[in-house]
Amino acid sequence: MLQHKKLALLSLSLFSLIALAAKAEPIDNRHIIVAPQCLVKNLSVSMNYKTLASSSTLALLETNRLGIDYLIEAKNHRTATPCGGFVDVTDAWDNYHSRDLSSQRKAKSFLQEEMTKESSVKIKAKTYGIQYPDQVNQLIKQINPSTIWSDLTAFSDTHKSKFPDRYANSATGVNAANWLKEKIEALAKANNRTDITTYAISTGPQYKQPSIVVKIGDSNEPGVVIGGHMDTLSSSWELKPGADDDGSGSMAVMEIARTLISSNMRFKKPIYIMWYAAEEEGLVGSSKVVAEFKNKNIPIDAVLQFDMTGYADKNDPTIWLITDNINKDLTAYLETLIKTYIKQPVGYTRCGYSCSDHASWNKAGFPAAIPFEAAFGKDNPYIHTANDTINILSINHMANFAKLGIAFAVELAEPVV
Ligand SMILES: [Zn+2]
Repeated sequence: MLQHKKLALLSLSLFSLIALAAKAEPIDNRHIIVAPQCLVKNLSVSMNYKTLASSSTLALLETNRLGIDYLIEAKNHRTATPCGGFVDVTDAWDNYHSRDLSSQRKAKSFLQEEMTKESSVKIKAKTYGIQYPDQVNQLIKQINPSTIWSDLTAFSDTHKSKFPDRYANSATGVNAANWLKEKIEALAKANNRTDITTYAISTGPQYKQPSIVVKIGDSNEPGVVIGGHMDTLSSSWELKPGADDDGSGSMAVMEIARTLISSNMRFKKPIYIMWYAAEEEGLVGSSKVVAEFKNKNIPIDAVLQFDMTGYADKNDPTIWLITDNINKDLTAYLETLIKTYIKQPVGYTRCGYSCSDHASWNKAGFPAAIPFEAAFGKDNPYIHTANDTINILSINHMANFAKLGIAFAVELAEPVV
């Protein structure tokens, strides 16, 4: 009896402890996630989550901060067919007002709308052409592979505790954002540019690291976006240099910015250079950036994403174009640009659901495209580990992506001649 009583007491106190723990958990610790079923299949049994709605391809989940880590872990399972990642849709869910009264029906219609958004993006962006070969070639010559290399060496330097990680919730993750911003401000100053604005966009209350946006030119015409993600996973277990993912894309973007800012060329349309925060956490930074551009009605013609540009499988210089969650016309245009200006082979490869920040733009109806370092499955096997270091990357591969970015920016932003 006593035993029983003790047990009852024990279970009661355990129960109240759990209740207390649940109560103590801050409200903003809740995350609403859309994940492909191929990823959900790999989730650890220890992960605490609730399935709010489910289709044959996607699931809407409610989880907490720890659940994000489990989702990241599941994303790291290498699969034979592309699966992709997950998207944190907490903001969209909180702003979602469905006419359906039951929460179950609300979840179902929310997921349905997410799926429609993915598939309904068929905007014929416009007819793209080759119009400014002289100007493109003039700037392509300014791309300096050794600058990309030295920038990436600094950006992925885990020594002396510089960037043991660029995690979206660490002090060094915030330092990485500041490093990018200060570098652009120094470039603008050195080149006496008064038409360059650099600002941070908050990633919300759950992440310390902001995204960084640079506007080149002061025109208010529809602009061109070129971006990559600055963040890595946390270094709590091992160092996270993130040289390829996505230091390589981020520093190709930096070289594009350096080339544009230090040239005398001016453009009819603004060029936005972006480094997104918290991509690894479910495209959180880019979702906030896209929401801000939508809220402020800032028009955007075309979006280019660089995520992993440095690992060339067996030194294959092919530039691979991702075929899902992208705009087809813009992707076909990338092939034209590569053949015209970079003169390297082009391949096509699928990536899976929400592979990188272009998916945030694509879902919101902006034409977006993403060239990639290798065919899916032949890309860098060391990403998300301590071995994602610069020494196995190709300086020429990265420089070719930077050149492609220049061709994209110059042709679409239209030089003022
Ligand atoms: Zn990445």
